[in-house]
Amino acid sequence: MAAKNAGNLEGCNVSMIVQQWQSAYDRGQLKNALYQYWAQQVPKIFFTSAEVAISTQRTPDAVQAEEKLSRDVLFEPLEWFLCGGNPSAVFQQLQALNNPPQLCGKVFKVGEPTYSCRDCCADPTCVFCIECFNKSTHKSHRYRMSTSGGGGYCDCGDVEAWKQDPWCDIHKQGLGQQSQNPVEKLPKDVAARAWEVLKIALGYAVDMLLWEQMDGLPQELEPSVHQNTYVTMLFNDEIHTYEQVISALTKAISCQQKEAVEFATVVDREGRSSVRYGNRKSCDQARSVIQVISALTKAISCQQKEAVEFATVVDREGRSSVRYGNRKSCDQARSVIQRSTSLRSKPLKVEVMHTSVCAHQAFAQKVLNWLGQVVNHSDGLRHILCSTALQQPPTGDPCVVERLMLADTALWKTARVQCHQIMMGSLLMDQESKKQFSVLYTRNYAQVQKDFMADDHDHGVSIISLSVQIFTVPTLARYLIMDHDLLAIVIRTFLEQCASCRHGRYLLDREKLQKNFRRLQFPLLDLKYVLSMVPDEWNDQLKKKFLNGFKIMVELLTSMQGMDTVTRQVGQHIEMEPEWESAFNLQIKLAPAVAMMAGWCATDKMVLIDAFRTAVKALLEIRGTPDTVKMCKRRVCDHEAIVVDYTVSREPVSIHLPICRLLAGLYLQLGRHGLTFNSPELYGPLQPPSAMDLLEKPLRTLVMIAQVHAEMWKRNGYSLFHQVYYYHNVRCRAEMQDKDIIMLQVACAQMDPNQFLIALLNKFELMNWIEGDFDDFIRLFFYGRRRDVTEKGSSATDVSAESTRDLLRFTNSLVEEFLNLLIIIMGERYVPGVGQVCSEDMVKREVIHQLCISPMAHSDLSKALPENNNYETGLEGVVHTVASFKKPGVTGMGRYELKAEFYKDYNPFFYHYTRADQSKSEEAQLKRKKQEGESTACPPPEMPALSKEFSSLVNVLECDVFVHTIRTVFRRVNSSRSRSWTEAMVHRALHLVGMALNEEKRLYQTSPYIRFNFVKKATEGGSSSLYAALHDLLGKPRIQNHADLLTWVIDRFDEVKALKEQKPGASDAQKAKKVSSKSKTDAERKKKAEAARKRREKILAQMSDMQKSFIRDNLELFEATGTDLSSSPSMEVEGSPLVVSSQHPVAVGPDRSPATHVTLTTSTCILCQEDQEVSAGNKCVVLAAYVQRSTALSKSRGKGLEDPDKYDPLLVSPDLYHGVHTSTCGHVMHADCWQRFYEAIVAKEQRRTMRFRHILSYEVDRGEFLCPLCETLSNTVIPILPPSTTIQPDTVSADISLSFSDWLDGLQKTVEASQQAVMKEEEDKMESSDDLPVLSPCPLPSITKNMAEMAAQGFQQLFEYMTETGAQAQYSDSVKEMMKLFSRATYTNMLHDPPLPTKFGLGLDPNDDDDRVPMTAWGTCAYTIRTLEWLLRDEGKPLFGSLSSRQADCITALVRVVTVSGNLSDPQTISKSALRLLSALLPQEPMKNIPCILDLDMFFTLVFLHVTIPSLYCNENTAAGGTIRGVALNDKHLLHLVTAAHLVQILLAANFSSADAPMDTEETAEGSAWVKLFMAVRKEAGVQTAVVPSGWQLQTYIRESVLPFLRCTALFFHCHTGVQSPAELQESGVSEFEPLVSTWSSPRLDHHFKWCRYPGVKESLASGPASLVKYPVEVNKLVPLPQDYSDVINRGSVFTCPRSDGDDSRAPTMCLVCGQMLCSQSYCCQTDLDGEPVGACTAHIYTCGAGVGIFLRVRECQILLLTGKTKGCFYPSPYLDDYGEHDQGLRRGNPLYLCQERYKKLQKMWLAHSIPEEVVHFMEANASFATIEWQHL
Ligand SMILES: [Zn+2]
Ligand SMILES: [Zn+2]
Ligand SMILES: [Zn+2]
Ligand SMILES: [Zn+2]
Ligand SMILES: [Zn+2]
Ligand SMILES: [Zn+2]
Ligand SMILES: [Zn+2]
Repeated sequence: MAAKNAGNLEGCNVSMIVQQWQSAYDRGQLKNALYQYWAQQVPKIFFTSAEVAISTQRTPDAVQAEEKLSRDVLFEPLEWFLCGGNPSAVFQQLQALNNPPQLCGKVFKVGEPTYSCRDCCADPTCVFCIECFNKSTHKSHRYRMSTSGGGGYCDCGDVEAWKQDPWCDIHKQGLGQQSQNPVEKLPKDVAARAWEVLKIALGYAVDMLLWEQMDGLPQELEPSVHQNTYVTMLFNDEIHTYEQVISALTKAISCQQKEAVEFATVVDREGRSSVRYGNRKSCDQARSVIQVISALTKAISCQQKEAVEFATVVDREGRSSVRYGNRKSCDQARSVIQRSTSLRSKPLKVEVMHTSVCAHQAFAQKVLNWLGQVVNHSDGLRHILCSTALQQPPTGDPCVVERLMLADTALWKTARVQCHQIMMGSLLMDQESKKQFSVLYTRNYAQVQKDFMADDHDHGVSIISLSVQIFTVPTLARYLIMDHDLLAIVIRTFLEQCASCRHGRYLLDREKLQKNFRRLQFPLLDLKYVLSMVPDEWNDQLKKKFLNGFKIMVELLTSMQGMDTVTRQVGQHIEMEPEWESAFNLQIKLAPAVAMMAGWCATDKMVLIDAFRTAVKALLEIRGTPDTVKMCKRRVCDHEAIVVDYTVSREPVSIHLPICRLLAGLYLQLGRHGLTFNSPELYGPLQPPSAMDLLEKPLRTLVMIAQVHAEMWKRNGYSLFHQVYYYHNVRCRAEMQDKDIIMLQVACAQMDPNQFLIALLNKFELMNWIEGDFDDFIRLFFYGRRRDVTEKGSSATDVSAESTRDLLRFTNSLVEEFLNLLIIIMGERYVPGVGQVCSEDMVKREVIHQLCISPMAHSDLSKALPENNNYETGLEGVVHTVASFKKPGVTGMGRYELKAEFYKDYNPFFYHYTRADQSKSEEAQLKRKKQEGESTACPPPEMPALSKEFSSLVNVLECDVFVHTIRTVFRRVNSSRSRSWTEAMVHRALHLVGMALNEEKRLYQTSPYIRFNFVKKATEGGSSSLYAALHDLLGKPRIQNHADLLTWVIDRFDEVKALKEQKPGASDAQKAKKVSSKSKTDAERKKKAEAARKRREKILAQMSDMQKSFIRDNLELFEATGTDLSSSPSMEVEGSPLVVSSQHPVAVGPDRSPATHVTLTTSTCILCQEDQEVSAGNKCVVLAAYVQRSTALSKSRGKGLEDPDKYDPLLVSPDLYHGVHTSTCGHVMHADCWQRFYEAIVAKEQRRTMRFRHILSYEVDRGEFLCPLCETLSNTVIPILPPSTTIQPDTVSADISLSFSDWLDGLQKTVEASQQAVMKEEEDKMESSDDLPVLSPCPLPSITKNMAEMAAQGFQQLFEYMTETGAQAQYSDSVKEMMKLFSRATYTNMLHDPPLPTKFGLGLDPNDDDDRVPMTAWGTCAYTIRTLEWLLRDEGKPLFGSLSSRQADCITALVRVVTVSGNLSDPQTISKSALRLLSALLPQEPMKNIPCILDLDMFFTLVFLHVTIPSLYCNENTAAGGTIRGVALNDKHLLHLVTAAHLVQILLAANFSSADAPMDTEETAEGSAWVKLFMAVRKEAGVQTAVVPSGWQLQTYIRESVLPFLRCTALFFHCHTGVQSPAELQESGVSEFEPLVSTWSSPRLDHHFKWCRYPGVKESLASGPASLVKYPVEVNKLVPLPQDYSDVINRGSVFTCPRSDGDDSRAPTMCLVCGQMLCSQSYCCQTDLDGEPVGACTAHIYTCGAGVGIFLRVRECQILLLTGKTKGCFYPSPYLDDYGEHDQGLRRGNPLYLCQERYKKLQKMWLAHSIPEEVVHFMEANASFATIEWQHL
């Protein structure tokens, strides 16, 4: 195809260019042609002006134009040339030549979900992308879910990554394809051009990116025309914080804060940003100013501020660590500050660059991208690119890839990332290239790591992050080890980075380790990758290279051996805590590699022998020479041993013994290859180490730790304490404590048991103790000192007495520790190699012991177990055999409980127990045994047999020194004068005897010929025998706690004795006898326990009978009070207003039932504890309350108050888009007590703010306080009033006869008259104002004069305003003041955000003039009732009886405040309000600002009219506070009217579709009546009715739609009148319609159709059904969430930051109210709120949730609750794994599924408006969270 089809572009004719290139190509001068072209074009396209060069000035148009130009001018011709035709067609052809892919290789974006199969992965870095995973078999395996940190790709199809099923269904298709060289498949000409083009393009891109000359280009790229423009380029570093960069920029280039933020964001994201564009001088200037300022601010102003910051951190962490015991000394803190500040005083990196350099670099980056795209089309092209990239130029220079590798740290962030991406997309996707690449990488490994060390960028943007892609491929790793000595390179690289070599020995550089370990550690991680797969086959080369690596590893370990030695401090506390963390960091990172190396050794005998020899050699070298190691003789009961003379309590000891531990690991492997400890081939020319050589160092460490436990090292401070903690901790113990024990076992197995024990006793410094006269020695010591003291009469008395006591105490503790260690050495056989066990047995035993402490959640269990290299603990494999799983409820976690049959395996001296674990487990077991009536003894469990090498271990348990030691302990207990024994000692001694007996029994039963004679030795010597001593213990009160164990031991003793005395065959009878006697005692115990249980049951039954008969006898009483015995007490507490009645009550109208109960009659003030009667005239009592603006009920989410000043709280829109919710904790106070309390808080706050600013959980200046009793957040109080009906009895309603139509007629006339008056006025003025029309009511007589006489009389009576007996007088001032205060609080919260500071006391509030103040209080009453109705509806609960007492108290108090408010306010205001409501409800003429009925919420309207209508006809002469008369009759007619209006509303809004048409149902009379009305109403309104519903359908619709209104109304009037609720409404599941309707006679709809004709109605209807509120109004819910959490992650990963084009969001966060995804916690999406920058979430809650929000943080899998600008908390997500646990931060990675119940709980929290309360409770309980800057989320 000819190039001419490409068409012409402005100034660039593609076909012409392509032709020129073609001819140049033919001449072999393509490179020149391309460079010439680029030299001309590139500077014309990029960095041509500030508008495209400076990130903050770039416009989307400019970006697009630049993009288009580069596409058209630069890439288009290149593609045409490359393809020799239309690129899209050719690329498609090439694509068809590809083999179907066998590898997925999808490169992960940040936050994308990844899946690893725990059953099949080769190592935990192997992952699937979501598409592959969903199409693979691993979905049904145990898998782990995670989110990618960016980089890395899908391993689908990599046979080495998966033990089985490496292909998903998609990539399986690529199988079996002939793998021919893909280049051969390409068309010849394309291939030929591709070789050239790709090489030139790649070379160009790399040359330009690495170009170092800032003001000039390579010769061949110099343009003909020179421009003189420069930019100032700011580079990223990881030292300066965002804030520092921003502040430097604002000062240096005088830009706005916002612009500076944008620069900083770009610099952070891309690694550099140009900040100034212009001539050389201005750019130079900008550079130096930025540098100076950034250095200065750090050096001067920041230092102090930072030091303060640092000091607080240290202080805070010092305090929090006290629990673990770490308090850093001041010196250290100071030095840390100094170090860190000096580090930060480096200036920012800024360069001035010529724009043409920038332009070419910009183009170079684009070229890289383009290359990535091109090779994606075709395997052949990829192969070509790889080959050129790896081809070494003839000059001998390094190839392109190597250049990039070595220049990695010189590049800026995006350039690096692009380079890595193209490497991953090309080199790593092609098997052969990957191999070559990895060779290059290995060759440059040391240099690359060194560069990284010196660099300051994160690991993720460094080339070394590619290690994982290479080293985790086992074949590749093995090849690199064999042919390129990878193992040695990696270890040596690490060693040389952190150690210096002196005299052939390496010395670790502590300072480097301490400061830079984070960057240093990566070779160790690589080592783990390299070693992760043990080779199946060895060859000589592999053996050689592995052993070479092993040698270097031993060098490294030798340099660690004996690190951080400690010497016991006596007398004085250490001055400075030594640094210990770096050695442990190193240990933790190194341990897996060491363990894996031992694993490799284990697979080949020769390798093992060689490695063993290397380790032994190292051990002998560090052992010390005979002249440095002193030996001495020690004797115990006729046995003599030569031991090392080294006193742990006086000489230095180290906890780090990696060489000994390495050797211990190798010893375990010997048995596998038929080797024993003494096999001569192990040692070759070396002298085998003596058992003492093996024993000495680990024993010192263990003794030191025993002495720490004995509190002998207290003066050595917390650092030692920490080291001991970690030594034992699950993360370290496998390669520390466990190995030391193994080494002791190894030594023991090779030694004479008596000598072994003497060596132990000697090292424990117990040689005195073991002597028979130890007590005399102590006495002598004690009295001797006393005598000294009395002679000298000095003040040293205390000291010497103290030290004697210490000596005794220390010795006793050490004996306990010694016995403990002996139990461990003898009993810990669950290590494969030591005992005859497998690794499952080992895990099982761990699990059993964890569960003996208490039942545990899966995650807690996992945490307690050590992980292997694949992060597996083996837990799942065994847990079900030993434990049963209990599912969780709505809170908490699922738990495992140990199965009963495994309790016998419990060993209280289990060596992985901490001391706390030990006592907790003992307690738990004791409790359990007591409950089950068992013996309380926890005897030593049966032990597995030892392996052959270790079999002589048991001899210790029958040797003379052992028997002597135990006997010594028992004798001292028996001697009344002895002080040298403890209960713990006896416990351990008994346990050891039990172990010996168990062992004897086991050995005798398995092989009776084995000589093991503990029983014989223990009975030797008659009355002085151990056996006799044991018997003497019986019945001793001093050992009462262990009496059961003693009994067990003696029983077992007799059993074994009998067993051995008899012939093997005859022992059965004996056994049977024993068993029967044993079971007899057991049976007795059981019988007792049974009897006790029966007794308890009997008593309970008696009590229950008594209760029942009491109820029977007093049945009437129970019925009379209406107490429902079955319901939960909290709902039915006495005083709850919503209580049952059996007769049918009427709550509205003159015929209403009498109020049966008056609640809240007296209350106790929680502040002064006095009782107070509730009445209108007395001292006012109040409820602590919290009012908050709310959008929870909004049906128009996102709609906000446009202009608070114009907001009309009276005419409420039915979408309820804005309201105020009130809640209370229900605690009652005197108004004045509360005021004093509040004033005290304010005063305290004022004092506090002067000292230091720290965010309190509540904001005093917004009127907030915590309830003094329950600390619930509150911001106002509600006065408690008696029902208004009891204060102002309705005197007239019953006597008046006024029909509904007459009443309505009168009101209509009133509205008409006032509207006409207003319109006339407006006509007179000839102008219309924007203000609300002021309707004034006309006088009552002017209405009645036009009415019939009877009606007029009734009307007159009903509305006549009585002034003589003023209600005002009945209310005390304090009540009135509190009412005002409450109204004010609702007003400020509704209209001001943040709410204005509220003033308390008598001072006038500026807002008091606003007529809307009382109305907002009425509104909150209606809003709160609406909310409660929703809550009840949502949970399917009955209307009455299911509100909590808090909720019931709240609405009762609110309703009473509201109903009284009508006649305490200015009557004229009230009257005008009434008229305005009526003019909306009964429209006569269309009026401005008066909505039609479709835009009114009828429940609000009803409440407002109830309050206002009695005052309708007052005039200027009526004073405030008149008696209201016919309230009841007004209510009755009002209810009719409003309900009728509501029905019309519902009928008009109806929108049936034919899809909802029901099945045939019988038509009812009611149904057909509704249909008739429906048609009539709609016809009147002129609405098209597409589908006519059936009668039944319509009836259902209407009933459902009107029900919420009726329910709210019922609640309102019930609280208002105190009339009981109908019984039917207290049960759920009952049809509610009839009982509700029957509380008043059914509505009459014969009223009028005027509503429908009102123009406003027609307008609203014309805009379609979507604009109307849908009936029935549904309860708002939080957005539905997907069942599987990976769907959520996926949704988060495709979400990009809305502010920057296409960038990933770092913290995608979903609003659960509206479902919107936000880019949280990031500068890019900060906005201004009241002049302060806030994060996306905080900004969102002000548009979506009135300042309250509930979010799901996708990456963290946690709920975020926010309220206001400064408060928030985290909450567990409703997603749970199979073990019933949530996973905050996705740390465990188990699959997570939505738990509906928990989501429902969140939903309820949100709807009940309790988020602010929850947040404050949380913040009060977790002070540490107060430091989180919630506003930035
Ligand atoms: Zn994939
Ligand atoms: Zn796949
Ligand atoms: Zn699998
Ligand atoms: Zn009080
Ligand atoms: Zn309270
Ligand atoms: Zn963003
Ligand atoms: Zn939202």
